[in-house]
Amino acid sequence: MSPVGEVADAPRPKEWILGIHAYVPGKSAGKDGRPLIKLSANENPLGTSAQALAARTAPLAPSLYPDPDSKDLRKALGDLHGIAPERIVMGTGSDELLNLAAQAYAGVGDEVLYVRFGFSVYDIAARRCGATPVIAPDRDYGTDVDALLASVTERTRVVFLANPNNPTGSYIGRSEITRLHAGLRPDILLVLDQAYAEYVAPEDADGALELAASSANVLVTRTFSKIYGLAGERIGWGTGAPAIVDMLNRIRGPFNVSLTAQAAGIAAVADQDFVEASRLHNLRERTRFVAALEALGNHGLRPLPSEANFVLIEFSGKLTAEAAYDGLMEHGYITRWLPGQGLPQCLRITIGTPEQMDDIATALRTMAEAAQ
Ligand SMILES: *Cc1c(COP(=O)(O)O)cnc(C)c1O
Repeated sequence: MSPVGEVADAPRPKEWILGIHAYVPGKSAGKDGRPLIKLSANENPLGTSAQALAARTAPLAPSLYPDPDSKDLRKALGDLHGIAPERIVMGTGSDELLNLAAQAYAGVGDEVLYVRFGFSVYDIAARRCGATPVIAPDRDYGTDVDALLASVTERTRVVFLANPNNPTGSYIGRSEITRLHAGLRPDILLVLDQAYAEYVAPEDADGALELAASSANVLVTRTFSKIYGLAGERIGWGTGAPAIVDMLNRIRGPFNVSLTAQAAGIAAVADQDFVEASRLHNLRERTRFVAALEALGNHGLRPLPSEANFVLIEFSGKLTAEAAYDGLMEHGYITRWLPGQGLPQCLRITIGTPEQMDDIATALRTMAEAAQ
């Protein structure tokens, strides 16, 4: 039964671990190994704050363990967001925290719920702890709160929602998030994954941080991997009720945020000008790119509404998503084609520099016209 083979005396992985497919990261090179411009992993095209770069190359003492509690970084985040540092837990990327949330609150016989086209890590997080992943139907690729609530059963323990969502870019506002939370039993943990929250205009915030501050069953996760431009340092954080933070602190890696990561993170938080410049760059370029794509509507291209730093494009005309993916690769760009996530008709493209976005829009137009 096991693909690992029938060796009698070999260690046998748990059944639920065998069901896991490894996370597929965004590629950075083409089939022939030639380097490509990477617009496949939602990294920041402006790079990293100069202050954060300077902090991680300042003299540090790598022979010593880092602060196990990331105290200064939690204080910096707490000051920025108005959160008591005791209510903040750090992770090796928010990925660690998503996995720990499932592990702490779900197990064999329990259900972990999320929307169709949700972030692919949720499936892994659910299966890692032996829980059953349950998928609620989407509404035209977006989050359907009614469908989520209708999919809750007495076995549901954790609900994951990325808002904005990856890979769709879809977003639901404050009233919908409030309605979702109000419709869940208080013993269900609602994990609001805000990896892209800083890209949303402040006046459109979904209120997740307020819910985490006022509820006993909400965990909000955020990351330094996207707008802060520190994906390589692996820093994530979460906030919620003290009991939730305490539980995650018990099971996280003891020194889970490295020395350079803590130094870079503190400097990055201090440089909100870089964050704001990144948000405005993204808004400007995403708006321009979406307009260019909308002009290709007669060729079957449809950009889905996005509040994130990428756009998911649906292809329903002669030019297929796969052909566009290959064509853009020929053109020097790696984007994200997602057949493994049930989206063979879609391509996800990270917002890059103005020149890159113009170049890609032109290449898509040329390919779409040639396919007619
Ligand atoms: C990129 C991303 C993350 C961040 O992962 P890290 O482990 O913090 O790098 C989390 N959630 C979603 C939905 C993402 O797209």
